[in-house]
Amino acid sequence: MIETHEYEGIIQIKMSRELNGSPVYWVAAYLVDGLLIDTGCSDTSGELASFLTWKNLRMAVNTHYHEDHIGGNHDIMQKFGIDVFAHPDTVPLIAQKPTLYPYQEIAWGYPVPTTVRPISGSIHTALHEFHIIETPGHCAGHIALMEMTKGWCFTGDIFARGNPKFIRPEENIGEIIKSCRLILREAGERLVLFTSVGKIIEDGRNALTSFIEYISNLAEKVQAMARNARTIEEIINDEFGGEHDFAKFTDAQFSTRNLVRSLLEMKLQ
Ligand SMILES: [Zn+2]
Repeated sequence: MIETHEYEGIIQIKMSRELNGSPVYWVAAYLVDGLLIDTGCSDTSGELASFLTWKNLRMAVNTHYHEDHIGGNHDIMQKFGIDVFAHPDTVPLIAQKPTLYPYQEIAWGYPVPTTVRPISGSIHTALHEFHIIETPGHCAGHIALMEMTKGWCFTGDIFARGNPKFIRPEENIGEIIKSCRLILREAGERLVLFTSVGKIIEDGRNALTSFIEYISNLAEKVQAMARNARTIEEIINDEFGGEHDFAKFTDAQFSTRNLVRSLLEMKLQ
C-alpha cells in the first residue's frame, strides 16, 4: 500500500506491505523536482512505479543499501530507464541478493539486485542542488541529502526517533551521533528533516540537538553503571525495564542489548 502527502512541493511516498488491510511497517521515499530519494520495499515496487507515471522522474538516489530503501530500484529502472545513485561502498551490496532474516522477509521482501552508480559531492535537478553528506552509524555507506537554500535534509535512517530503545547489531550509536552533529554543522539556520520513518520534522535543529543530548546523557549514565560493576543484563533491566518486545520478533536484531553495548563503546565528548 502507498500513501502520499505533499510538503513544500515535495511528495512524500509512504509504502508498506499490506496484511489484512493494515500496513506492516511504513517506509517513506521522497520525490522532489524529478529526483526520487529511496525507492521503498520490493513488495510495493509495482505500486510505486505506477504512481510515478507522468511525474517527470529523472533519477533516484538510495540513502543506503537496506532492503526497504532499494526495493523499487528494479521496476523504476526498467520502466523509466533512469539512473539510480548510491554511496560507492554500497554499490556492490545493492548489486547482490541480500541475506534477510525472517522478519525482514515478512516486512519488506527481497529486492531484485540492481546496478546503481556511485555518487559523491552533490546532485543537481533542474531547480535544486543537493549536497551528499556521508552519515555512517546506521550502516556503512549511508548518505543524507541536503538542499541548503531551502533548509531541507533527507536523512534516510540516520534519525528515526529521539529516544531509541533498541538498535540493530550493525548500528553504532556513537557514529550516529557524529553524523547528526555533522548535519547540524552543515545546515543553515533552517533545518527540516525528511525521515524514512515518515515523519517530517520542521524544527530539525531542535530535534537533532535534543537527540544528541539525550544519547550523550544516556551513555554517560550507562558507562557509570558499568564502572560500578553492573552487568549488561542489570543495565537493561534497571535503565530500560528489560529487553524490548521487538527483540522477540526480529531474531534479536532490534534489541536493547545492542543499544547498551553500543552506548558502552561510545566515546564521550
Ligand atoms: Zn536502514
